[in-house]
Amino acid sequence: MRRAYNSVLKLPQLSTCPHCSAPYVPHRVCPACGHYKGRQVLTVQAFA
Ligand SMILES: [Zn+2]
Repeated sequence: MRRAYNSVLKLPQLSTCPHCSAPYVPHRVCPACGHYKGRQVLTVQAFA
């Protein structure tokens, strides 16, 4: 049993999107508004 396996069991840290204040995974595009590093890189169809 390796001690490093404990880190795998942890939940991923979530950051708060500065654009829509929704929780998102760091270094990933925000799934709520599609923004990443101040730019909109995805088109999220919220009213589709
Ligand atoms: Zn967002």
